[in-house]
Amino acid sequence: MSTKHVLVLGDQLNRDVGPLASMEPAEASVLMIESEALADSLPHHKQKLVLVFSAMRHFARALEEAGFTVDYRRAADFEEGIGGYLDGTGARELTVARPTDYGYEERLRAAVERRGARLDVVDNELWITSDDEFDAWAEGRTSLRLEYFYRDARRRRGWLMDGDEPAGGRWNFDADNRETPEPGHAFPSRPSFPPDALTLEVIEDVEARWPDHFGTTEGFAWPVTRQDALELLNSFLEERLGTFGPYEDAIVEGEPVLYHSLLSVPLNLGLLHAREVCERALDFADDPANRVPLQSIEGFLRQVLGWREFMRHVYRTRMPGLREGNGLEHDLPLPDLYWGGPTELRCLSETVRQLRATGHTHHIQRLMVLGNFALIARVDPRELNDWFLGCYVDALDWVVTPNVMGMSQYADLGSFTTKPYAASGKYVNRMSDHCARCSFDPKRTVGDDACPLNALYWDFIDHHAERWKGNARMALMVRNWERRSERDREAILGRARAVRGTL
Ligand SMILES: Cc1cc2nc3c(=O)[nH]c(=O)nc-3n(C[C@H](O)[C@H](O)[C@H](O)COP(=O)(O)OP(=O)(O)OC[C@H]3O[C@@H](n4cnc5c(N)ncnc54)[C@H](O)[C@@H]3O)c2cc1C
Repeated sequence: MSTKHVLVLGDQLNRDVGPLASMEPAEASVLMIESEALADSLPHHKQKLVLVFSAMRHFARALEEAGFTVDYRRAADFEEGIGGYLDGTGARELTVARPTDYGYEERLRAAVERRGARLDVVDNELWITSDDEFDAWAEGRTSLRLEYFYRDARRRRGWLMDGDEPAGGRWNFDADNRETPEPGHAFPSRPSFPPDALTLEVIEDVEARWPDHFGTTEGFAWPVTRQDALELLNSFLEERLGTFGPYEDAIVEGEPVLYHSLLSVPLNLGLLHAREVCERALDFADDPANRVPLQSIEGFLRQVLGWREFMRHVYRTRMPGLREGNGLEHDLPLPDLYWGGPTELRCLSETVRQLRATGHTHHIQRLMVLGNFALIARVDPRELNDWFLGCYVDALDWVVTPNVMGMSQYADLGSFTTKPYAASGKYVNRMSDHCARCSFDPKRTVGDDACPLNALYWDFIDHHAERWKGNARMALMVRNWERRSERDREAILGRARAVRGTL
């Protein structure tokens, strides 16, 4: 039996799809590479490095236990790792599932070909929707909207459908999913996976090698094996899915998870397949005994089948322009507060504190606290993109770039969104309990104690007024702005200038 040589990347840790799925352990030799260059490329959160390296080492061990030969290398970069492997084994062909991140396939191919070997790239089956499915849907459309992609994907799979109609008669329950919990609401505790001996070794390595990177390894509790990932999924179904919908947009101080799933972590490593996550959630919700309301299961499906798949296709079809664009020409350097520098804005200091401690915050904290502030302060979106890419445990280029450059910063001028996600302090006050503990007043726009978000918001509207007049969903805000007296406007813009000056 001739040996097949397979390269497994850090976000492809799945035995049931890709090249490994069809191979007998005895016929495959697996190469895995821990690349220092990748870790060095940004000041990645220490927990992100621990997560990825620990999950890779656990996966390598599981493959060995299943009978595979595994060559696990720590190398300066992929070039060195691949070169060493090909030279050592004499292999003439290396097979890999198509990398998702832009430019990787070409770089791997070049490294393999420089050693006189050939790279065989096979389909990456970790996705629910194929490239062909998306391309056929997108053909002839002048604008890409999640809503229509998601409906089409549901119809094709018959998920939450009554014949041709959506279950419950509506496609979208977003309007029902904006509740804020009462003070004292008891949330389930954060699912926790304390480090085993292998993870402790990785923690030691990371602390020794990257002591100055962002964040801390203390309290590391992320899932690093398939078993952990399944436990996380089960605990989400049992404890959170039923209430996922109503509080989806809420922010509660001291509650990092609320009813979110944390599943982006194992999903993005490949430890769980998005299809199995959706199918398990649909089955669970189907049993009336589990009491999962439609607004919750629909909200969850919209995220995993909808947004996650949609963003991947947006990235695939819009790179490299998506990462380079700065359509609003924002140029403020990323303020130090993103790295933990002092700020009196409670929403920001608390969110960054949580991020340093865990490498994670939920979606609304990313979009409406961190993203919103950068947007209305007019921060260079490319700097923010790199920051998100480095600081989150679940960050990969394919998911960060469309979320930051497109959804959050509107740097693509709305190629798949209808308006920028810009908000004042009033939104943060409505959706969170931060403002009650903040030294600024969310109801005031000018004066030293006025919430800086309010003046920045109007400054953002004013700065791009001509552009927003042509946007049906923003034009009203421009009219509201222009209705204010000259004096008011000057005072607000003055306050915004003063705030930007401190950043
Ligand atoms: C500025 C910004 C940066 C982001 N960076 C990342 C990132 O680095 N990695 C990442 O996986 N997601 C990212 N997201 C999307 C989303 O915020 C996270 O997927 C989610 O917060 C992860 O937590 P969770 O698993 O508890 O999500 P839940 O709220 O439980 O949602 C379930 C799943 O839906 C998927 N999902 C939901 N929204 C999105 C979205 N907009 N894009 C892609 N998938 C989505 C995720 O896989 C998530 O696990 C970002 C969003 C924004 C606005």
